[in-house]
Amino acid sequence: MVVKIDKQPIPITEIEQSAFCQTDEELASKTLEQEFDSGVRWQKLPVSYMRTSPEELEQKISDAKEKLGNKIMILGHHYQRDEVIQFADIRGDSFKLSQHAADSPDAEFIIFCGVHFMAETADILSDIEQKVILPNLTAGCSMADMAHIDDVLDCWDDLTEILGENSVIPMTYMNSTAAIKSLCGENGGIVCTSSNASAAFDWAFERGDKILFLPDQHLGRNTAVTKGVQLDEMIVWNPFKPQGGNTIEEIKNAKLILWQGHCSVHTRFTTAQIDSARETNSEVSIVVHPECTLDVVESADYVGSTEYIKQIINEAEPGTSWGVGTEISLVNRIASENPDKNVFCLDSVVCPCSTMYRIHPAYVAWVLDGLLEGVVVNQIEVDEETRKFSRIALDRMLSIK
Ligand code: SF4
Repeated sequence: MVVKIDKQPIPITEIEQSAFCQTDEELASKTLEQEFDSGVRWQKLPVSYMRTSPEELEQKISDAKEKLGNKIMILGHHYQRDEVIQFADIRGDSFKLSQHAADSPDAEFIIFCGVHFMAETADILSDIEQKVILPNLTAGCSMADMAHIDDVLDCWDDLTEILGENSVIPMTYMNSTAAIKSLCGENGGIVCTSSNASAAFDWAFERGDKILFLPDQHLGRNTAVTKGVQLDEMIVWNPFKPQGGNTIEEIKNAKLILWQGHCSVHTRFTTAQIDSARETNSEVSIVVHPECTLDVVESADYVGSTEYIKQIINEAEPGTSWGVGTEISLVNRIASENPDKNVFCLDSVVCPCSTMYRIHPAYVAWVLDGLLEGVVVNQIEVDEETRKFSRIALDRMLSIK
């Protein structure tokens, strides 16, 4: 067993998240130059795009999109800012968007307005000739950053040494790098999303009695609890400690090994916020995302993916009140699409996903202008070997009900 010491203690995106959470400013886009002042890392691009006003950018994107026509398809994750998502041909969560990437062979270029692991997934699932573009290469995901492939391989080696070959089913949340999806595909495992984690757990437990779940401990724990797995049958794997911080006995007894990762946005929600919402209005319904902690999930009335959250509120009776535990850009959008209901974010401090927020309209204009000139910028390409095994894990996911 190798004990490594050269690890980055906190992913940079985790630190940057706090820069946004300390502000109560409106989230309307400014020029990119002004947004640079927030002190976060962004990909550099020609200075003219940095000074272009939001209104001019809107016109530029609109014109470029019209000229490029069916050559491009723009996919937009629900957490994208309004000024970007308005241009998406398809809006959705990572599951819905990955299905569209797999089912849309006609577009020559897929512009993915989301984060890096989503663009990688689109590249894996789309035809080999199609090119996937991520407008800003620094749009990552702090949760995905918490599971580096080298650390996961160390963990896998330890588990194999302690438990023997083929004794653990690896399962990774979509929010992980292609390298980790590939490890799952190569070792009899599967990918899941927050929409199908329950079915993916059933799939895995039909094939083995131990699961390694990466990288979101909360989605893994919340789902396992609904499957009857007891909390004392779960351990957390801390990549900074030998054997993940567990004894050999604990590893042997565990049914579920949870990677120590979390979402910086969804772990901000607390039961105190829920209690406060209920004190203000006893009729309020609380709906949260399963990346929230177990106590929050157990305290909520409803739990589900972003698609589920959208749907349950869209279909609710007029006059109802909804306290929502998910990313603020989506909550604001649901609120404006449901003016007959009271929809609010449980966290009163404005806190967008800082990495999703990096897709500023200036980047979208830049990559589209590049395509008009025949230049492909920011293409995301997964290497052949990684693609092959990731595809196996993703196809297993797409095949389950
Ligand atoms: S909301 Fe959380 S899991 Fe989703 S992209 Fe942002 S940091 Fe990652």
